[in-house]
Amino acid sequence: MIDQHHYLDGSPLHLPVGKVVCIGRNYLDHIRELNNSIPETPILFIKPATAVVPLDQPIHLPLGRGACHHEVELAVLVGQRLQNADIETARQAIAGYGVALDLTLRDLQNELKKKGHPWETAKAFDGSCPLSPFLQPDALPHPQAADLRLRVNGEIRQQGNTQQMMVGIFELIAYISTHFTLQPGDVVLTGTPAGVGPLASGDVLVLNLDKHAFSARVA
Ligand code: ZN
Repeated sequence: MIDQHHYLDGSPLHLPVGKVVCIGRNYLDHIRELNNSIPETPILFIKPATAVVPLDQPIHLPLGRGACHHEVELAVLVGQRLQNADIETARQAIAGYGVALDLTLRDLQNELKKKGHPWETAKAFDGSCPLSPFLQPDALPHPQAADLRLRVNGEIRQQGNTQQMMVGIFELIAYISTHFTLQPGDVVLTGTPAGVGPLASGDVLVLNLDKHAFSARVA
């Protein structure tokens, strides 16, 4: 767990780490790979602040709970309180862009899905959201056309572009704010492109957001 967000150069953002609101199924190719149906409205779930860990610290996979999958995602830092926001207000409230892993206990999630139960134990456990430092918003001039890539041990596992999102970044944040008030320091994860798969001890990861690369490793 970390208590404050940081910029890329290591300087603090003076925003506390809050909740993480995530969307399921926002990239068509990922929906297809898991044989899921296309949702009529965004599927939202929340990871608590205790899920957030720095991406550059060794990732600890939960033991004895089946496969733990990587999902690389664009992470958006909320800088202002948002409640029932419109799209423009949502855009102006963004304090930074980064990347995150939405770690998912896939075997457990599949069991929960079958039973029609909530996903929290598969998605919201401690350390389930390794998170990078943030770029200033103007350092990512085209957030809705940004390349997103994950390499594991040198092999490209996930590759996409934020253009492929079904619900765009600003629209998604506005929509979330009609259900949950977003507070300064909250983070929104915007969904994952295809290529999700299991992580193993010792894996070396490189996450890319356009030209920016972030390294991580599994303990
Ligand atoms: Zn995800």
